[in-house]
Amino acid sequence: MATRLKDVDAVVIGMGFSGAILSRELTKAGLNVVGLERGADRNPAEEFTLTRLRDELRYVARLELMQDNSIDTVTFRNAPDELALPIRRFGAFLPGEGVGGTGIHWGALHWRFLPTDFRIRSALAEKYGAKAIPDTMTIQDWPVSYDELEPHYDRFDKLCGVSGQAGNLRGKVIAGGNPFEGPRSDHYPNKPIKTAAGPAMFSAAATSLGYHPFPIPTATSSAPYVNPEGITLGACEYCGHCNRTACEANAKASPNVNIMPVLRSEPKFELRTRVFVTRMIYDREAKRVSGVVYTDMKTGEEYEQPAGLVVLSSFVFGNTQQLLLAGIGEPYDPKTGRGVVGKNYCYQFEAGGEAFFEGREFNPFMGAPGMATAFDDLNGENFDHSGLGFFGGGYVACINGGAPPIGGRVLPKGEPRWGAGWKQAEAKWYRCNTRFNTQGSVYAHRDNFMDLDPTYRDALGRPMIRLTYNATENDHKMSRYLVEKLDAVVKAMNPTHYALHNRPKNFTIVPYQSTHCTGGTIMGTDPKSSVVNRYLQAWGAHNLFVQGASVFPQQHGYNPTGTLGALAYWSAKAITEKYLKSPGPLVQA
Ligand SMILES: Cc1cc2nc3c(=O)[nH]c(=O)nc-3n(C[C@H](O)[C@H](O)[C@H](O)COP(=O)(O)OP(=O)(O)OC[C@H]3O[C@@H](n4cnc5c(N)ncnc54)[C@H](O)[C@@H]3O)c2cc1C
Ligand code: SF4
Repeated sequence: MATRLKDVDAVVIGMGFSGAILSRELTKAGLNVVGLERGADRNPAEEFTLTRLRDELRYVARLELMQDNSIDTVTFRNAPDELALPIRRFGAFLPGEGVGGTGIHWGALHWRFLPTDFRIRSALAEKYGAKAIPDTMTIQDWPVSYDELEPHYDRFDKLCGVSGQAGNLRGKVIAGGNPFEGPRSDHYPNKPIKTAAGPAMFSAAATSLGYHPFPIPTATSSAPYVNPEGITLGACEYCGHCNRTACEANAKASPNVNIMPVLRSEPKFELRTRVFVTRMIYDREAKRVSGVVYTDMKTGEEYEQPAGLVVLSSFVFGNTQQLLLAGIGEPYDPKTGRGVVGKNYCYQFEAGGEAFFEGREFNPFMGAPGMATAFDDLNGENFDHSGLGFFGGGYVACINGGAPPIGGRVLPKGEPRWGAGWKQAEAKWYRCNTRFNTQGSVYAHRDNFMDLDPTYRDALGRPMIRLTYNATENDHKMSRYLVEKLDAVVKAMNPTHYALHNRPKNFTIVPYQSTHCTGGTIMGTDPKSSVVNRYLQAWGAHNLFVQGASVFPQQHGYNPTGTLGALAYWSAKAITEKYLKSPGPLVQA
C-alpha cells in the first residue's frame, strides 16, 4: 500500500528540458512544485568535469547517461502483424535518464519549424489538391501557428544562448542566414560558432549550384553569455565531445546548466531523484488527475503524491505509456483509425555520407555537432513537389561535429578493415574527411503507432510501451531526393573519394540514427483527432499538461528540441495566466 504524502500544488514527471522549464515557470507563478525524476541527480560542478568527460567508452559505447533498459524499455516491431520484442540495448535512439534527461547528451542543433509546417495538411491541400494526400498519411495541422509560437521560440533561444545568423528579422531577409525561416522577432543571442573547412567548402559548392547555405543554429554559445535566468554560460571550446556526453565548458545548453541552478535555490521547488512514477491517478468522473504513484528506487517503497496540477514530461515513450496506463483518452486502433493515444509516432532517419580529400586536413576530431553549414531550399514546402511523388523535405548539411577516436572513423571503399593495411589507411584518411547529413520530415502513417505490449512488462510490473514502426514509401522517396541533390553538391567539392548512403529500406533499432521520436499524445483541435489541446492540456483531464515532442502531430524536417522548448513556454504561459485563474478546460471540446 502506497504511503500518502502531503498535497502539493504541482508535480512534474521527468526533469528534461520540458520538465525543467515548466517547473521554473510554475514556481515563478507562486506554486509549490515537486519534480520527480526516475534517474540520478546530475550536478555539472560535480559530474561534468575533466578528465571524466573525455571518455568515449563510458558515454558513447556504454551509454552512461541513457535510460536503464534493465528497468524499463520499449518493445519493437516493424509492422502490426509481427511479434514485438523488448529492446535490450538502445541503439537507434538514446533517451536519457537523470536530471537533465536527454538534454544533457544531445547535439544541440537548434531549429524552428517553418510557418507552413504548422498548417501542413491545409498547405498541401491548397497547393496540390486534397486528393493528392494519400489516405494512409495521417498528417494534420497544428492547433497553434508559427506566429503564436514565435515569442516562445525567442525565449527558448535566449535561455539556451543559441548561436546563429538570423535569415529573416521581422520580415526582412538577411544575407548569410536562412532565407526560408519564419520571421524572427530578434537576432540569435550569440553570433554563429566558427565554420570548419569542410562546411566552408560545402557552402561554396552549394552556392555555386544556386542553394542558400547558412550556419546551422546551435544551442552552444560562441562567446561567454548570461541568459535571462542570470546564469553565465562559457564559450564553446570545439572539443569534439558534445554528442552523448555533457559539456564541461557550460557552453552547450542543458537543463542542468541553463535552468537547474535557479530551481535548486528556489524554496518553492523540491527535487526528488531516483523516484519512478509508475502511474497517474485518474478521476474519470471529475476529468482530472488527483496525483501520481511512484516507487522510490533506493528503498523500493511506494508513495502516492497528491497534486493540484500534473505536468507529464517523461519523453515520447513515457508520456504515451502513462496515458494508456491511466486510461486517459481513447487508445489508437490502426485497423479502424479510431482513437488517439499512441497515434502518429514518427521517427527521423539519417542519410548522408562522407568525402575524402587527399592531402587536405579537416581536423575531424574537433568541433561541435552544430559546427555545420546547411541549406534549406529542399525543406518542407520551400520547393514545388509537383510530379515528385512525395511530400516533405529536409535540410542538407555538412557537419564537423567531432569524430571520436573509437566510433568516429570512416575509410574510403576498398581500404583494408584490419591489420597493418587498416592502420596505414587510417593514418592517411582520418584527418582528410568531412561528413554530410540529411534527415528530413516524417509524415505520419496510419500503421506507425504505439500501444501497450500485451506480453512484456517492465521491472515495476507495468506493460511496456510497444512501438510499431517502419519507414514509409513517401519518406524514402523524399530522402532519396535529398541524397541525389546532396550528391551534386559533394561532386562540386571535388573530393578524391566519397560515398553517400540512402536510408535502409526497413527501420532497424541497431545503429544510432536520431533521438527525434515524436507523436503518441498529439495536439489538435478536438478530442477525436488529438490527445491534448493547443495549450497541451489533456482533453480527458483538465489539470494534466503533457509536454515534449509526443505532442507533435507529425515530425517536420528539423530536429525537434527548439519546437518542444517553445511549446513548453507557450503551455506554461497558458497555465499561469489562464488556467490558474479559472481551472478547467482551456478549450471547449
Ligand atoms: C545523441 C542525441 C543527440 C540529439 N541531438 C539533438 C539536436 O542536435 N537537436 C535537437 O533538437 N534534438 C536533439 N536530440 C533530441 C533532444 O535531446 C530531445 O528532443 C530533448 O532533450 C527531449 O526533451 P524532453 O524534456 O521532452 O525529454 P527528456 O529530456 O528525455 O526528459 C524526460 C525525463 O523524464 C524522465 N522520466 C521518464 N519516465 C519517468 C518516470 N516514469 N518517472 C520519473 N521520471 C521519468 C527521464 O529520466 C528524463 O529525465 C538529441 C538526442 C540525443 C540522444
Ligand atoms: S564542442 Fe563546445 S559545446 Fe560541445 S562539449 Fe565541447 S566545448 Fe562544449
